[in-house]
Amino acid sequence: MRLSLSTVLWFCLAVVIGVPVALVLWLGVVGPGRPAEPQDTVTVWVEGQGPLTLALEDYLVGVVAAEVPALFEPEALKAQAVAARTYTVRVMRKYGGMGCAEHPEADISTDPRRGQAWASSSELRRKWGFWPYFRLWRRVTRAVEETRGEILTYDGQPIAAVYSSTCGGRTENSEDVWGTYVPYLRSVPCSWDRESPRYSETRLFTRAELEQRLGVSLEAVPALAGKAGREPMVILETGVSGRVREAMVGGKRFSGVELRTKLDLRSTRFTWRQRGSGVEITTIGNGHGVGLCQYGANGLAKLGRSYREILSYYYPGTVLQKLDDFQRSQE
Ligand SMILES: [Zn+2]
Repeated sequence: MRLSLSTVLWFCLAVVIGVPVALVLWLGVVGPGRPAEPQDTVTVWVEGQGPLTLALEDYLVGVVAAEVPALFEPEALKAQAVAARTYTVRVMRKYGGMGCAEHPEADISTDPRRGQAWASSSELRRKWGFWPYFRLWRRVTRAVEETRGEILTYDGQPIAAVYSSTCGGRTENSEDVWGTYVPYLRSVPCSWDRESPRYSETRLFTRAELEQRLGVSLEAVPALAGKAGREPMVILETGVSGRVREAMVGGKRFSGVELRTKLDLRSTRFTWRQRGSGVEITTIGNGHGVGLCQYGANGLAKLGRSYREILSYYYPGTVLQKLDDFQRSQE
């Protein structure tokens, strides 16, 4: 069969024009930032680089992709997108937020300890691999697009939409972690996060390591011999979710949060036992445990719950609202 010149030309034209258009439209490589309408922008402090101004919805794709596995259920990705958008809007100066405390020129930092994680598309391409990148990027983009402009409010204000990886069976009350009662950050049961790869961890601390990290002397407590009342560690108080509020180590009092930081534990929900001359600590869960549980949300999505149901479960009493409507209500 002989192809006519015009057929060949048409074919070449289709490839030259059609392939890039398909990439842009179908694979979503340009992200959710459709240029047709004016968009909110957010100035992000990229750790190790400096400030970067992005369209809010584009920024959120990088947050969702960095915060949870892109293979999470679509409804869980959407719940994460709304939580991340709400968290961001609350700190944005445009909406009356405080901005980034460490970097005043930015609204938010990419340091997850100070805000929420974020990954650029080139970082994600490296992490996911070249071809999987297109499919995974599209999954995350879709979750952001399908919840475009939606935030959670309470009493007409964007909520402090905190979230963490794995609550380990029950989320925590805000006051037990940060000392402040927040009506929508209440402890709720969560039995859907057991698939989390960070559900449980056991670590052995040598006596010397404990002493050094906590600035205590276990010499004075021969408890490593195991006599009752002379234990190296005594858990004094636990909260409603079983997380440690206060414990005594080597005769010195520590809050659960302090121990988590100093010992670099995954959560404050832990138990301990003596092992040899050291102490073995087993933690359940990963993160502070307040608000949305990311792996719990994925478990709920697998059971068929919508992102709206997931959000109202982990943030009870909150309302899902369009950012535009919230903005109008402020004028
Ligand atoms: Zn959970």
